[in-house]
Amino acid sequence: MVNSDLLAVESPICVGIIGGGQLGKMIAHEARRMSLKVIVLDPTEGCPASGIADEQIVAGFKDEDAIMRLAAKCDVLTYEIELANSTTLKDLEAKSYPVRPSPETLYIIQNKFRQKSFLRKHKIDVADFERVRSEDHLYQLCERFGFPAMLKACENSYDGRGNFLITSREQIPKAFNYFSKNEIMVEKFVPFIKEISIMVARNPSGEIASFPVAENIHKNGILDTSIAPARINQEVELKAKRIAEMTMDVLKGAGIFGIEMFVTKKGDVLINEIAPRPHNSGHYTNEACSVSQFEQHLRAVLDLPLSKPELLCPAVMVNILGNEHLTGPYAIKGLRRLLSVAGVKLYVYGKKTSKPGRKLGHITATGRTVEEALMRAAMARNAYELTAKMIKETPK
Ligand code: ATP
Ligand code: MG
Repeated sequence: MVNSDLLAVESPICVGIIGGGQLGKMIAHEARRMSLKVIVLDPTEGCPASGIADEQIVAGFKDEDAIMRLAAKCDVLTYEIELANSTTLKDLEAKSYPVRPSPETLYIIQNKFRQKSFLRKHKIDVADFERVRSEDHLYQLCERFGFPAMLKACENSYDGRGNFLITSREQIPKAFNYFSKNEIMVEKFVPFIKEISIMVARNPSGEIASFPVAENIHKNGILDTSIAPARINQEVELKAKRIAEMTMDVLKGAGIFGIEMFVTKKGDVLINEIAPRPHNSGHYTNEACSVSQFEQHLRAVLDLPLSKPELLCPAVMVNILGNEHLTGPYAIKGLRRLLSVAGVKLYVYGKKTSKPGRKLGHITATGRTVEEALMRAAMARNAYELTAKMIKETPK
């Protein structure tokens, strides 16, 4: 393992990241601030992180040869997507190469059925669930769980794309065929009153530190808004933190994890899912906390002391998502109005084209109160629009 106590500017510690999207970009930003080196692996030339990282290897996330080349150039490997090849990473780890979070953790999380089974085994509350063996079996499970029931693809789903809400018996054949032959599971629908999430870090030495709880609003299965601190009572907050820290402990997580949870009317807290990486709902930490989720991730993967995150001010993050009417190159119109809103920070990831629902950037608004941050975020959101027109004004 690299001596992470020594920051030699001439030959800096090098962090390899599988995935070069916005999360990789923001990790690279923090790394650069401390003069650490970053190499990303991503199939898209000119991916968001490429402009910040020291180097990009252009290859697929599961490309064994490319992952090995990345490892050879770096001191430690991490990833910003769950699609990373856990078998190749396991081989590397077997040769004592540091992969963080560990391939075993990734393997558990990559599959929602495996992930939930692991949590249930460790007595961490999740909604009732079962793997679906056949269409008949799905009928039986819907009977048992009641309607609506949530059908989920066990792997490769994100932004709600792997979910199908079954509202009646009649929908079962369509739902069953929706994910073709992929492994599926059905979950009891949770009539939550709030969705929350916690960013929590653990380093290989076993130190654990969690961030303040954020409250999340999803639209069409995609995260739309995160509010920090979450508007929950102290009992729920403590419960959520305890669950998050316990999860990191049993998973032996190394790095920052985003843990999404449901809060019920009774005040129960259930885990919805775990992301073994920085998370969209933790972007607010850049402006509102004493340490960002991205710096904390670097600290954790390098086994450095974790910072104890403190909330400096309330914040609201809103995503800039591609809309239904626009596929292809795009521009953000209304930049002047947007940036004239007090307390607002704009992030544009640098993705070359827009697609419906694609995460193109985000806005974080801070304020003295949650209400003020909410108002500023709403003003910023109303100030811009996405357009396909990219005609630049020629200076007179
Ligand atoms: P993402 O990557 O954006 O987190 P995902 O594709 O992994 O999404 P989930 O997090 O499982 O999907 O679900 C997306 C959203 O669907 C949740 O945030 C929640 O609003 C809703 N949802 C998921 N499971 C349930 C459930 N059992 N009961 C009620 N709502 C649910
Ligand atoms: Mg989710």
